[in-house]
Amino acid sequence: MKRRRKKTAVKILLVEDEVGIATMIRRGLEGANHTVEVAHDGQIGLQMAEEETYHLVILDVMLPGRDGWSVCETLRAQRNRVPILMLTARDSVRDKVRGLDAGADDYLPKPFDFQELLARVRALLRRDKIHRTSLIKIADLQIDTLQRRVTRGGNEIKLSHREYDLLEALAAHEGQVLTREAIQERVWMNEEAYSNTVNVYIGMLRKKVDADHKIKLIQTVHGTGYTLRVPDPLVTEPISEATS
Ligand code: CA
Repeated sequence: MKRRRKKTAVKILLVEDEVGIATMIRRGLEGANHTVEVAHDGQIGLQMAEEETYHLVILDVMLPGRDGWSVCETLRAQRNRVPILMLTARDSVRDKVRGLDAGADDYLPKPFDFQELLARVRALLRRDKIHRTSLIKIADLQIDTLQRRVTRGGNEIKLSHREYDLLEALAAHEGQVLTREAIQERVWMNEEAYSNTVNVYIGMLRKKVDADHKIKLIQTVHGTGYTLRVPDPLVTEPISEATS
């Protein structure tokens, strides 16, 4: 009887056009109990990474459709923080720097030994698990930054990509005032945005996050910007009789 090994929940996207190498990596990673999905084209790989949540992306540089640099840059521009390990035949310092500039987490020149790849994969998964705060909780608001999922009072709130980015930016700085400029820089980055864009998005976010709730978490700080926090009277410690 064939022994079936249970797969771990770790899901890896492998974008590699050389079928032989892709098969070798996939089999090896499956042997380490990971689930692996393969794309042989950069454009398809990018679409898969946009549509699915992976724990890690292994990304070849020279790809048909769209090269690995561009896939990596595009994902980072979308604020996708999935760990990315780049594979390339080019072992020059310049290419390595370019890969890291594009937002890759690590870089492995070809040809490589599979055990070396596996060691890098393990290190990246471990590092990601340690560094990523996956759940932000403020009052009854919960933000799962891994799944980009938001609930309030246990009910899921559907947000657009931008609305989510805006909420996460505010929540990650709970209690701090973020100016409109700081928000614009964080959420819209270098893109052109109208001067009232932030206000408009705050309005939409309030409708979805605060409108049906007594406690309003998104607050305007006049002349300055916005903050997300539990309103003051609710965080004030009750005065203890024993200390008075
Ligand atoms: Ca290639």
